[in-house]
Amino acid sequence: MLYENLEKIIEDSYDETVKLRRYLHMNPELSFQEEHTREYILKKLKEYGYSDIKENVGGNGILATYDSQNEGPIIGLRADFDALPIQEETDLEFRSQKDGVMHACGHDVHTAILLSVAKAVKASTDPLYGKIIFIFQHAEELPPGGAKAIVASGELSEIDYIYGLHVHGNDKFDGKINYCSGYAMAASDNFEIKIQGAGGHGSAPHMTTDSTVVAAFLIQQLQTIISRKKDPSESGVLTIAIFKSGEGAHNIIADTATLKGTVRTLNPEVQALVESEMRKMTALICEAHGAKATVSYEKGYPAVFNHKEPTELVKNLFEKKFGAGQAEAVAPAMGGEDFAYYLEEKPGTFFYVPAGIPEQEINYPHHHSKFTVDERSMLVGAKAFSLIIDHYLSGAKTEGSDTDKKAGEYA
Ligand SMILES: [Zn+2]
Ligand SMILES: [Zn+2]
Repeated sequence: MLYENLEKIIEDSYDETVKLRRYLHMNPELSFQEEHTREYILKKLKEYGYSDIKENVGGNGILATYDSQNEGPIIGLRADFDALPIQEETDLEFRSQKDGVMHACGHDVHTAILLSVAKAVKASTDPLYGKIIFIFQHAEELPPGGAKAIVASGELSEIDYIYGLHVHGNDKFDGKINYCSGYAMAASDNFEIKIQGAGGHGSAPHMTTDSTVVAAFLIQQLQTIISRKKDPSESGVLTIAIFKSGEGAHNIIADTATLKGTVRTLNPEVQALVESEMRKMTALICEAHGAKATVSYEKGYPAVFNHKEPTELVKNLFEKKFGAGQAEAVAPAMGGEDFAYYLEEKPGTFFYVPAGIPEQEINYPHHHSKFTVDERSMLVGAKAFSLIIDHYLSGAKTEGSDTDKKAGEYA
């Protein structure tokens, strides 16, 4: 059986996977600057016997193809490999060797997982039907990100399904996976509103247009987009993070005011509504007060939309193998992830692997200087990917959704 053989190779090479992950952890590189990491991944892929490798896809991205030479589905599996501008404060023996740079999101773990799966596939002697494109993606953490450019390269156009995972440090390792069907992670947009009033003496407001008062009023009103304009059953967050106006003295009415903040939404219709209402409200309120306003609204990554059938497939495959209840549904999160771009093009899902250390009282969140991961989560992630490979490429009819393409249907 394909799965059992992949699992055995993955388990036998676990120590190597741990070493590999620790090496990556000690040598983190910032988004778009991952030259050394890229070289390291290439070296490993060649060592495992891969020759069909595309380098510099959309930047530092790498696509390694396993072609079984038999007709069958083509699936994409993705891992990201960039780190963050954070000074690591763990006391791990393999902590970052680079000042101010840290793998504080677990992308080192993702890369180690996918490499271990790539190794197992190449080493397996079972006949496979179809192709696997292993996607090693740069720059997930920093918009515009790596995924968009990899998609734009067109190199993934023949893929039928795409899958990715993220370790979750906030949930303790328990051997399970988590999934979320439909909108799972938020679109993350930033905005800046500049209000131009007319400054003057603090004792003579009637001679001015007080930008501070206009901005304060606007801050209150913008929240009504969330509370009164959008459907309450839809998720949405609008946060003003920065409010700047006036400086110099107690008796000067501010000429200009600036508001900066973020908008998080799951449904693109809500995203569009928040932007248009923000523009309308800002223009009208400023006009009513005699001020002028400019709104710049920058869209970040779109929302992650997990397709229903691939999501259920992963859940079913995992539970069939490891028992009922081993795949748990989770609620959508308002964080962002550029895996969204792949899912805009291809059916697939992005699932999670709980990876907090059970023995540790505090598991610090992602992007924290003390973020740690239970490395056993790598086995869980690699096994989940192996089940997906087994489903699509073993040539055997396995349980899943009826609409999935099976190897036999290609003949
Ligand atoms: Zn992150
Ligand atoms: Zn991440």
